[in-house]
Amino acid sequence: MSELISTRDPSQSTVSYTDVILQGQAPDGGLYVPVSYPCLRKEDLEKLAGWSYGQQFADIKSLFARDLPLSVIGDIAYDTYSRENFPEALMGNITPVSHLAGGLYVQNLSLGPTAAFKDMALQPLAREMNHVLSRRGERLNLLGATSGDTGSAAEAPIRGLGALSLFMLSPLEGMSRFQRAQMGILTGENIHNISLNTRFDTCQDIVKQIMQDPEFRDLGAVNSINWGRIASQVPYYVSGYLQTIDMADMRIGDPVDFVVPTGNFGNALAGYIARQMGVPIRQLILATNENDVLHYLVQRGVYMERSAQITSSPSMDISKASNFERLLYDLLEGDAKEVSAFMREFQHTGRACFADFGISPTALKDKGFDSGSSSHSDRIKAIQWVYNHSGIIIDPHTADAVTVARQKHTDTDVPMVAMSTALPVKFEETIHEALGFVPKRETRFERLEEKGSAGFVELEVSTDAVKNYLRAHREQ
Ligand SMILES: *Cc1c(COP(=O)(O)O)cnc(C)c1O
Repeated sequence: MSELISTRDPSQSTVSYTDVILQGQAPDGGLYVPVSYPCLRKEDLEKLAGWSYGQQFADIKSLFARDLPLSVIGDIAYDTYSRENFPEALMGNITPVSHLAGGLYVQNLSLGPTAAFKDMALQPLAREMNHVLSRRGERLNLLGATSGDTGSAAEAPIRGLGALSLFMLSPLEGMSRFQRAQMGILTGENIHNISLNTRFDTCQDIVKQIMQDPEFRDLGAVNSINWGRIASQVPYYVSGYLQTIDMADMRIGDPVDFVVPTGNFGNALAGYIARQMGVPIRQLILATNENDVLHYLVQRGVYMERSAQITSSPSMDISKASNFERLLYDLLEGDAKEVSAFMREFQHTGRACFADFGISPTALKDKGFDSGSSSHSDRIKAIQWVYNHSGIIIDPHTADAVTVARQKHTDTDVPMVAMSTALPVKFEETIHEALGFVPKRETRFERLEEKGSAGFVELEVSTDAVKNYLRAHREQ
């Protein structure tokens, strides 16, 4: 059953979910989007309200993964959202919502194995890929780049899977010691950690260049251009919505606002899709750090590339927001030629304006998006404010969301949920700066830095050096 199309393919030929997750980016350079969004009616939401997260996930995911049997999706959900993977999930609540103050809530998405929300989607994606490849008797080499969290979140579920090998590039600059150690301990078997003495953007560029080379056409992708990741993020908006409605004594159908700390626009795009499907999300507010490409885009209708600076919320240090192309496809009403023209302009000049493509400069605001940004000192204050009001310790990425939530939360009748995308243990220096102490670590993270300082191959910063490494180590 075929049902996804490339944002840049005017002929709109369709590709199945399972083929899409193995391919990553479309061969024409576009991103895969569903032909149409499935629907969640009020009755569906009422049905889902009493279910566990794993059950909600399987039910919603089956609407997207039409060519994976329901039993397979169910088994994957069961294995992924388990007590073993989410040891701190109280009463089995994998994505718990907590009340902060007034109408403000926080939804914790980072209770998974590597303490970042990327676990939520990479855990099932790895299992789906492995299932499909094993059925077909094939193997797949994956190539990715990480600014910190993607590395370990992809490696944890892929390690030891027979049908996959993963090559992960990471920069020497920008990552915390904790993040490096999380990756270092996973090296071995089918996991290759390659370190380059440069910044994340350069690692990402090398990945893109290699992917364009016909010799490496068969490499798969684990970054959020892979549609499988986006589809697996929709369920936690449903879970967050239902929990918030319940806590605020409201009814299913009443509106809720979400604030999403955003980088590559993957998470926020999943929120947009949840809303298109029928989840009563009123506003989707994008929170950026100093790298405010998306804030500028929402406010001005101009998509402009910047050179990314390293900040205290490093997983959002991006120079462009790749998944925006999927929203652009909707803004341009599915006109693949116009999407290609817009992206060509952006690639060549580093800038593209809505107005030049017949889109209103306020189109994103008209569609229910809003945005804000934060500085380092805003984040420090947000960490202090949340701790003083609720006793909860949030990480710097969540602090981006809380900063913007506090700016935007004016309508007290509509609850606002800030998404919490990493645990503070990953960024103890910033926590210490804000609070003067760091909380005691969970046993699973004790002395992690000492265990994983090795495990990286350092290569010369060049596309050829990485290609040579791949030639020598990829599985045929
Ligand atoms: C990746 C990441 C983000 C940004 O998510 P996108 O889907 O790329 O917008 C935010 N916070 C943390 C902790 C992350 O790891």
